[in-house]
Amino acid sequence: MTHPQKVVIVPCSGIGKTYGTVSREAAYEVTEDVRPADTQLVALSLLVLGDESSRAIVAESPVITIDGCKLACATKMVKESGGTVAQDFAVLDVYRRYRQFKPQGIGELNEGGQQLAHALAEEIAGVVENLALDSDGGRNG
Ligand code: SF4
Repeated sequence: MTHPQKVVIVPCSGIGKTYGTVSREAAYEVTEDVRPADTQLVALSLLVLGDESSRAIVAESPVITIDGCKLACATKMVKESGGTVAQDFAVLDVYRRYRQFKPQGIGELNEGGQQLAHALAEEIAGVVENLALDSDGGRNG
């Protein structure tokens, strides 16, 4: 039985860090609002805990990681889980491209943070689009 392959999005857990919150907000926007049919969020915490089904999903799907700092926990953990990172995003690099969106806040982002998360979500959606086209050999709509 075949099933359409989803692109897995793994944001870092970055609790207590603004960039971590940006990474999660962007991941939610992509998986819940922008490309819900093509993407699936896997929580970093489940990979850290060695959750078998999460590891299996990551191992058999293209993965986009989002990291809140250069420790790159999401990217490292996906690789350790046997996954293939199709694209890794670092929030700091994204911020360098959108310096007008200065993120602040942790539990709740300021407007700049929300705009940065949105900009990041759009970049991720573009990568998802390309991956989906690659795996389908083109879509029929
Ligand atoms: S990548 Fe950085 S911000 Fe994200 S969970 Fe790891 S240490 Fe925290």
